[in-house]
Amino acid sequence: MKTKIENPTCINCNEKGHIASWRGCPKIPTINSRTPTYAQKLRTNLTNLKKNPNTPELKPKLQAKTEDLADIERHFKALKIISDTLKRFPNIIEISEKLLLAKNDLEKINLLLQLTNNSP
Ligand SMILES: [Zn+2]
Repeated sequence: MKTKIENPTCINCNEKGHIASWRGCPKIPTINSRTPTYAQKLRTNLTNLKKNPNTPELKPKLQAKTEDLADIERHFKALKIISDTLKRFPNIIEISEKLLLAKNDLEKINLLLQLTNNSP
């Protein structure tokens, strides 16, 4: 009874004395170390994410953005108040154009008086 292979040849490294599935084959560790598994890649990505210098900056940036939005809201409110107030002076554009052409301060004062006189 002689079914056992006594001197096998490895199809990976072509060396005699072991078979291709043997873990001690020099070709096996080379392949494994150079081809990272999905889990290994994921672990590397997570480590890189933790090391990312941009991550700690996220919080202060968000706070700054909230302040900007509040600022814009305040500006819109101010514009609305000014716009509503300007509606009370329908001749403001006409008078401002006349103010540019005014030759002296008295003329300018008279024009400004017209502004308030026309308001309801
Ligand atoms: Zn081998």
